[in-house]
Amino acid sequence: MGGGGAPGAPINEEELSSQERLGLSAFRMRLSDSYKGAKSDRAYAGAEWGGGDGDRPRLHRDERAVVRGAPILPEPEDGPAPAPEARRLSGRVAVGIVLVSGPGRLAMSSSQKQKIIAEIQNGLSYLGGAAPARDVTFVYDIKEPQIALPDTTGEPPAGSGIDAQYEFYERPWRDGALAAMGFQPGGNGIRSYIRQIKAEKRAQAAYCCFFTHYRLYHFAYCSGSYLTMSYENDGWGVDNLDRVFAHETGHVFGAPDEYAESGCNCGGSWGFFGRPNLNCENCADGGGVSCIMKRNSWDMCSETPFHLGYVTNVA
Ligand SMILES: [Zn+2]
Repeated sequence: MGGGGAPGAPINEEELSSQERLGLSAFRMRLSDSYKGAKSDRAYAGAEWGGGDGDRPRLHRDERAVVRGAPILPEPEDGPAPAPEARRLSGRVAVGIVLVSGPGRLAMSSSQKQKIIAEIQNGLSYLGGAAPARDVTFVYDIKEPQIALPDTTGEPPAGSGIDAQYEFYERPWRDGALAAMGFQPGGNGIRSYIRQIKAEKRAQAAYCCFFTHYRLYHFAYCSGSYLTMSYENDGWGVDNLDRVFAHETGHVFGAPDEYAESGCNCGGSWGFFGRPNLNCENCADGGGVSCIMKRNSWDMCSETPFHLGYVTNVA
């Protein structure tokens, strides 16, 4: 990166790329009193992701923590089971942030972009800091595709399955953004992008997230290797983007939901270590303990670290 020099030397901001400038301005935003105040006064702090009274919607629709996402067509180089790019939350983790900007009110302003990056930094600094081995480093790639597509109108065809309803809203702007980024449409383009940043960043894991103002079937969701989030974050609000992002990242790495309305149970085989969901509110003693997979809080239960695949055998 530019601006190299003696440690502690001031950064020559004129040499920074657009990505670096966004990252730096987001970091500075997080140091501001107004940002810290918004965090200490955030709405619905500690509330369960299941929703409830007030304006906050349930974090997932139809009890789907992970949806199918963009279809992937077989490619000649594919083996029988392509390796997932995010098997465990360990080592260097590349995060692709795609800030999708459309016409008019669908434009993503520079202050909104800065806020999104700040929220992601904040959410992932929690997940990185919670790693027992302190071995997790997030490295970012930021894309800012500009597309001319109007917002989606109409409704999915009658009888569409749930996955098709997500895809109805997501596909037009997503494939437009992928084209603007130089990738093919659908899951293949997303996979190519994730693999590209994983290689470029010399990372052990990689995933990406699309941020948009376009209409969605639901305001935040995980499609396995990628996330889709609306800037407004529905009733949870923009100051909770950090925790929603951290929670959804949990799903990328295989962690299950733990709040009652998710319909969880204490069984199953989840995440890198294939462990059951013992902190599920529906069956854990006393409903279990607070956890980012259960509540809007910076808490980590004893089970989620295994689901995330943290390096846990730390002396
Ligand atoms: Zn969830």
